[in-house]
Amino acid sequence: MTDNDNIIDIPSLQWYPGHMRKAERLVRENLKLVDVVIELLDARIPLSSANPVLREIVGDKPRVIVLNKADLADEAAMRVWVKCFAAQGITAVPVDAVKGRGVKELVQAIAQCAKPKTDKLVQHGAKARAARCMILGIPNVGKSSLINRLSGGSKTKVENRPGVTRAKQWIRIGTQLELLDMPGILWPKFEDRQTALHLAYTGAINDNVYDVASVVLLLLDTLRTKYPSDLKERYRLEGELSNGAELLAAIGRKRGCLRAGGRIDEEKAQQIVLTDFRSGRLGRVMLDSPPSISLIEDAR
Ligand code: GDP
Repeated sequence: MTDNDNIIDIPSLQWYPGHMRKAERLVRENLKLVDVVIELLDARIPLSSANPVLREIVGDKPRVIVLNKADLADEAAMRVWVKCFAAQGITAVPVDAVKGRGVKELVQAIAQCAKPKTDKLVQHGAKARAARCMILGIPNVGKSSLINRLSGGSKTKVENRPGVTRAKQWIRIGTQLELLDMPGILWPKFEDRQTALHLAYTGAINDNVYDVASVVLLLLDTLRTKYPSDLKERYRLEGELSNGAELLAAIGRKRGCLRAGGRIDEEKAQQIVLTDFRSGRLGRVMLDSPPSISLIEDAR
């Protein structure tokens, strides 16, 4: 397998430019209504899950980053990412939107981030009001899960206000915040192969738009290099872990993925690897290295 192999082939059907433009227009419209943007990233791939034009769209509006699916991410490396964002003046909060871990810290961070804006409004003679925010992120990053968590299950809708179309609903969070009950969907960047692979591994892009067999082999190669003990432990493998193809065969044998005649059922083994990886059963990972890996040691 070489770097030039065209294994990630995104068909224009799913990522139709017109669809992207429409999504972007909607995001731009809704942005006018909010004080703070909550950018959701996948904690395992904080670079690959970022939208390429978000900064340009958001401008200098205050932004809080959520490192979502933190339960699946390598903790030490995630802490380094938090430091890296902090060095750029951005608060990043690790969150598990399913279990609710980190949500309290996130609410505090959003309120803090919005304060200069809401204070300024009051200084200019406006009535004090809750800070308004919206969630932005690529598909599958956990936007709906986080909205559900933040709303505490029972959504307290804010009354319609003049100038805001009736369709827009706001969710009250405590006394200080209101969240737009409609996340902004942005597309990931596919141009570079590494990014596309990371999106495929984590399930951010649909399995039917790329060659699963090749992607799983590359995933196994990555895990073999970065997280060999998790891999060995999960599949009770012994000795040297060779290449992806041999690993897949070994996993298939261990898991009894066999076809008639004793041949390995590779498709079945591939699905086992993908499901185990995405659910964290192969351990917590970080696929996008933080800018300075040496900081990991300090964070441990
Ligand atoms: P959306 O497309 O951005 O709205 O993403 P969803 O909220 O629908 O979540 C996509 C998938 O990721 C679902 O299966 C969620 O259960 C799962 N998910 C969301 N947040 C988390 C999280 O923090 N941890 C884990 N392990 N799974 C999550």
